[in-house]
Amino acid sequence: MTDLLYQRVQASLGRLKLARIPDCLDRLAEDAAKHNWTYLDFLDRVLEAEVSARHERDVAMKTKLAHLPFLKTLDEFDFTFQPSIQERQIRELATLRFVAHGENVLLLGPPGVGKTHLAIALGVAAIAQSISVYFLTVGDLLDMLHRDAKEDRLTHRLAALCKPKLLILDEMGYFPLDRLAAQFLFQLVSRRYLKGSIILTSNKSYGEWGDIFADQVLAAAILDRLLHVSTTVNIRGQSYRLREKRKAGVFHELNEPPKEG
Ligand code: ADP
Ligand code: MG
Repeated sequence: MTDLLYQRVQASLGRLKLARIPDCLDRLAEDAAKHNWTYLDFLDRVLEAEVSARHERDVAMKTKLAHLPFLKTLDEFDFTFQPSIQERQIRELATLRFVAHGENVLLLGPPGVGKTHLAIALGVAAIAQSISVYFLTVGDLLDMLHRDAKEDRLTHRLAALCKPKLLILDEMGYFPLDRLAAQFLFQLVSRRYLKGSIILTSNKSYGEWGDIFADQVLAAAILDRLLHVSTTVNIRGQSYRLREKRKAGVFHELNEPPKEG
C-alpha cells in the first residue's frame, strides 16, 4: 500500500469507528498476500476481527452491568453430584429461548445445592448472547426499596429493574417480605410479565411461600404471575459447599451415635 492510500484507509477506519481493524490490518494484508486469499476472504477476515472485538467489548460491558457476585459457568457445574437436576433441562435453559419468550425460571432447593451457581451460569450464557442481565439478592432488593421509599424513588427504581432482559433475583425466602416489599415485588413481576424474564432462586418450596409474605393474597398473585409461563427446577440433594467438610469427616461426629466407653 502506498503511504497515502494507507493513511486514507486508516482515516476512514477512524471515521467509521472501526477500532479493531487498524491493529490487525497490516498482519491480515500480509497473510492475504502470502496465502493468496481472494478479496472476499480478506474482507471476511477484516470484518470478523472487528465483529469479534465488538462482541468481547459488549460481553465485558454487560458483565460489569450485571453485578454478578461471582462468575460461574455450566461447564463448571458437576451434574453427577446433583442427580435431581436433569442436565438436558439446564442445557435447554442455557439456549436462552425462555428469555426470547419472557418466561421465568425458578430454581428451588436447600442451601448449597447450586442454585446461585446455575442462575449465574445462565446469566453468563445470556450475556454471551448479548442479552442484558441484572443480578440482585432479595435481601439487597429490600434494602434498596426501603431507601428508595424514603427518597421517593420507587417508580424510578421499578422502571430501572424492568430494563434488563433477564433479572436474577437470588435468595428469596431467607427473609420475610413486609407489605411494601411484597407490593413492590408484585408490581415488578406484573410489569415484567411475559416481557422480561426472571430467574428466581429460593430455599422454600411453593407451599412454604406463605411464610415469606405477610400478605397471602399478594403472595398468591406474585406466584401466579411468576409461574404462569415458567420452568421450575427442584433441586433435592446435598450441599456442595459442605461436601469437602463431609469428606474430611467434620460432620461425622454429628451424625454418628456417640461411642460407648
Ligand atoms: P445455593 O445457591 O444453592 O446455596 P451455590 O450455588 O452458592 O448454592 O453453591 C455453593 C458453592 O458450591 C458455589 O461455590 C458453587 O459454585 C458450588 N457448587 C454447588 N453445586 C455444585 C456442583 N454441582 N458442581 C460444582 N460446583 C457446585
Ligand atoms: Mg445461593
